[in-house]
Amino acid sequence: MKLLAATAITLTLLASAPAQTNQAGAASAAAQESQMIRIMRRGSQPSRQGLAENFTGPVRVDPLFQASAPARTSSSLVTFEPGARSAWHTHPLGQTLIVTAGTGRVQRWGDPVDEIRQGDVVWIPPGQKHWHGAAPNNSMAHIAIVEALDGKALEWMEKVSDAQYGSALRAQGAGADAGARPRPSQAAIGDFAPKLAELTDDVLYGDVWERPQLSKRDRSLVTVAALIAMNRPDQFRSHLVRARDNGVTQDELIETITHLAFYAGWPNAVTAIAVAREVFEKK
Ligand code: MN
Repeated sequence: MKLLAATAITLTLLASAPAQTNQAGAASAAAQESQMIRIMRRGSQPSRQGLAENFTGPVRVDPLFQASAPARTSSSLVTFEPGARSAWHTHPLGQTLIVTAGTGRVQRWGDPVDEIRQGDVVWIPPGQKHWHGAAPNNSMAHIAIVEALDGKALEWMEKVSDAQYGSALRAQGAGADAGARPRPSQAAIGDFAPKLAELTDDVLYGDVWERPQLSKRDRSLVTVAALIAMNRPDQFRSHLVRARDNGVTQDELIETITHLAFYAGWPNAVTAIAVAREVFEKK
């Protein structure tokens, strides 16, 4: 009994002592907490739908971060279903968009529409009237980063009409990165088989090739291997160029052909080597 009573008193003392300390040090604890690294876990910040008055079509907004004063930067991940887009709007201190998936559109008032794709980074200067959204047949997600001026980061305007949304893309070759991002099928067969060109550019290259589950380099390597094995010199020729653009070196491509001689057959490898020599010696 004596022992139990003594234990109870000790426990009470232990419990009350830290409680007093907590009260006294509450302010400094809060100050300390504000200096600690904060991890906002995936899924801990609820998504919301983009308001119908500010967007056309289904748009999901996932908040990423809200800076506390004096910092004034905030960011969210915005996902647009095919055809969905923002209304026209401006940002007082501009906006940066980092396209994380799919294919989309961006336009400044008075300019042609530009296509944007996964990996592109877009800067919208302060005060410029613009909109951004998905492509007609592809979804698009971007991280949007804005800075507020006097607490305001955005000014909404009228909706983007179907006619405005459907207007022609900026001509290929006019943009600074047009050479790096050609729409290969549009140029090759667009006038003759427009639907096949659209499917190839939007679904195959705009969607499948853009998926993050495999790197572009790996996609190039498996595609090139399949084309060698199937003995498709025409497609192999264009994919050799793409493979080099995606970071596969000339030596690696020749090694791939050598390796595949044993799996896909000697004649296929010899055909592929002849095409590779033609491509590599041209450039
Ligand atoms: Mn914007």
